[in-house]
Amino acid sequence: MVRSPGAARIGGLDETIFDEMSALAVRHDAVNLGQGFPDVDGPDEVVEAAVDALRSGRHNQYAPGGGIPSLRMAIAGHQRRFHGQEVDPDTEVLVTTGATEAVAAALLAMVDPGDEVVALDPYYDSYTAGIALAGGIRVPVTLPPPDFAFDVDRLVAAITPRTRLLLLNSPHNPTGIVLSRDDLAAIAEVVVEHDLLVVTDEVYEHLVYDDHEHVPIATLPGMAERTLTISSAGKTFALTGWKVGWAVGPPPLVKATRAVKQFLTYSSGAPLQPAIAGALDLPDSYFAGLSATMERRRDLLVDGLVGLGMEVTVPAGGYFVSGDIRPLGFDDGLAFCRMLPEQVGVAAIPHQVFWDDPATGRHLVRWSFAKRSSVLEAGLDRLAALAG
Ligand SMILES: *Cc1c(COP(=O)(O)O)cnc(C)c1O
Repeated sequence: MVRSPGAARIGGLDETIFDEMSALAVRHDAVNLGQGFPDVDGPDEVVEAAVDALRSGRHNQYAPGGGIPSLRMAIAGHQRRFHGQEVDPDTEVLVTTGATEAVAAALLAMVDPGDEVVALDPYYDSYTAGIALAGGIRVPVTLPPPDFAFDVDRLVAAITPRTRLLLLNSPHNPTGIVLSRDDLAAIAEVVVEHDLLVVTDEVYEHLVYDDHEHVPIATLPGMAERTLTISSAGKTFALTGWKVGWAVGPPPLVKATRAVKQFLTYSSGAPLQPAIAGALDLPDSYFAGLSATMERRRDLLVDGLVGLGMEVTVPAGGYFVSGDIRPLGFDDGLAFCRMLPEQVGVAAIPHQVFWDDPATGRHLVRWSFAKRSSVLEAGLDRLAALAG
């Protein structure tokens, strides 16, 4: 007998729901509206730049642990151009293996065992894992369905003397809410009053629809010195497999995060880094075109799901629509999503895996619109079997 290899700390961690549902999608040749990856690659010139970097023979060995200088400069330029945020590319920017590593390294760097980490509930699944790995205690600030509105009173109620850090995500996965400037100002007031750190995941910063606006909380008064802002090339350039991400913030937070990051991966994606440096310098029209295209796809999917009788919350940002399946005669999203690929030929993600209390999201299913219109239409056609 070999004793169970799992440490207690990772007891709750298992295969992600994304792998499970994507595997079901492949097995049943289903239209995959589950996992949030685009089905068309990002700009040709960015891919060509990576090919050139691979062939040049100058980018195939370890990149510096903090990222190559041209990429750090491009990240600083991007923060200035889009957010009016000034950061020093040498001391306030860290290149990471996707936003995922940045979040994990930041939590490991800033959270001691027993520290409380307050996070918006539902959460992206890697937060739960990162907090658990750090030995922290997760404290939810629930965004209640159906509109998932943020309420600062819930944040105030979640704070205790053991609260160390607030983990934010806006535009938010899976709900699609975008925290408004007023929300962020209210959050900033609480954070300053209780002297908390903020880690904010802004990977959907360029995917904001209608007249919503993405405001990095780091740009609010008093916040720059206590906020680590995380983003990534994956969603902005439709290159999720490249796993090039970054963190920007004050030197002590960047330094601490880097200290952990260097022993997770040291560095990664050396030939991809110069290509992403170029991508971040693409003209404004690229970024505007991306959100316009995604907004049309959002509308297509929202209209289609509503047409099937689902109750849908229209997302202000991100990749996903949340739909209530009860009007279709179902009440358990997990059972629904396990049935769907085989019975209907579509894959989706059950909401309940994102919630502190799974019961809150039991009737909700997350659908991705990061797909070509023809694919969304094919998925909707198949889903019509449910309504019929
Ligand atoms: C997709 C996603 C990530 C992952 O980013 P990578 O750069 O691929 O690691 C992180 N946070 C959220 C909220 C996401 O949706």
